[in-house]
Amino acid sequence: MIVMKFGGTSVESAVAIERLRDIVASRLPEQPIVVVSAMGKTTNRLLEAAGLAVAGQRAEALDKVEALRAYHHAEADRYGAAVVIDEHFQELTELVRGLAILGELTPRSIDAISSFGERISSRVVAMALGAKHVDSRDVIVTDTRHTQAVPLYAETNAKLAAVEWGAVSVMGGFIAATAAGVTSTLGRGGSDFTASIVGAGVDATEIQIWTDVDGMLTCDPTVLPGGRRVKAISFAEAAELAYFGAKVLHPSTVVPAIEKNIAVLILNSRRPEVAGTRITAEGPKSKDVAKSIACKKSITLVNIQSTRMLMAHGFLRRIFEIFDRYETPVDMIATSEVSVSLTIDNTARMETIERELREFADVDVEHDKAIVCLVGDNLRWQPGVAHRLFRALDPINVRMISQGASLRNISVVVAQSELREAVERLHREYFTDVDPEVFE
Ligand code: ASP
Ligand code: MG
Repeated sequence: MIVMKFGGTSVESAVAIERLRDIVASRLPEQPIVVVSAMGKTTNRLLEAAGLAVAGQRAEALDKVEALRAYHHAEADRYGAAVVIDEHFQELTELVRGLAILGELTPRSIDAISSFGERISSRVVAMALGAKHVDSRDVIVTDTRHTQAVPLYAETNAKLAAVEWGAVSVMGGFIAATAAGVTSTLGRGGSDFTASIVGAGVDATEIQIWTDVDGMLTCDPTVLPGGRRVKAISFAEAAELAYFGAKVLHPSTVVPAIEKNIAVLILNSRRPEVAGTRITAEGPKSKDVAKSIACKKSITLVNIQSTRMLMAHGFLRRIFEIFDRYETPVDMIATSEVSVSLTIDNTARMETIERELREFADVDVEHDKAIVCLVGDNLRWQPGVAHRLFRALDPINVRMISQGASLRNISVVVAQSELREAVERLHREYFTDVDPEVFE
């Protein structure tokens, strides 16, 4: 069996659903389990409606629900789904009216509302494919942490094992239920997680994540177009890239699959002929040093220097306590005896943070920076990595460098105005002559 997951854009319209149908039809011998997201931006719209309802804007909330109903009818009635859609919207409307009366949104009611997207889309796609519908709430069992529920694997796997799968089966991603049968969700973007849970549970031979990009690329296309497709990558490399903002998939969602050694493929539903990116626990055997260049734009660099020449101890603790107190994540860090440089992404609380730091340190804040990060499992085996990197970047001014404990990435901070040039130089250096088995 294989699991084929289709995200919101891959089920957003009748045209998209037809594409999905062709793609699934080409994989029938593998007895696919199709996992779908809500159609288009439905989840966002549902949450907006809920927000309006509890804020006392009952009419606006109901208007949003009606607009969603019209959208679903327009795209999905042709599959015979009109009655199913109306039944769901009747229940949804009652729920929104209830929220308007209560004026309060609990995590549990957020899940009740946001589940409707996948409850409906999975029924629609099952009808479009003439496939068996499996309600995810009957098989994915979670704890009671609503909106971020964690699967209970023993219970879930037992239920998955008991399902009589069809030649093709369709399930909604993202949605689940607690042991008591209350609807829960796995967190925003949770459909990838569902695909991975189901794939691991049924021992699928492969998990396919169908999305709207060709897979992972050697560089961020919004910074430098024309990168190569990475055909194969290790889980650790993919996780590192995801952390640095490659939005293709959230690494924690594929853990259940990787633990069972099941390959996860990223594929483009608009260009199914492209072979995508294959993520496996081990990754490909290749001599190439790097797999990809990730970037993070609009970064702020903070240089902190102790005002007492020799701080005995506690300097780092004091610094990080302040960032922690103001819930500001630190991305990169480099330290010496009396100074610390670090980067942050979110500057909302920076003024206060700066004021508190100044009580014991000199602080210098530089805006408009970018992080460029070279990622590859083989980086750790390469002598002279930093030398090669600096030579390739010359004469771009590197404001900070860090090679993390994973040894799988080396990151530099440059001025945002030099980001494109930095990426271009590194791309030329590391991806001009590469293994055709691993890169397109
Ligand atoms: N529909 C859910 C969301 O928008 C889950 C998903 O698409 O993965 O977050
Ligand atoms: Mg998604």
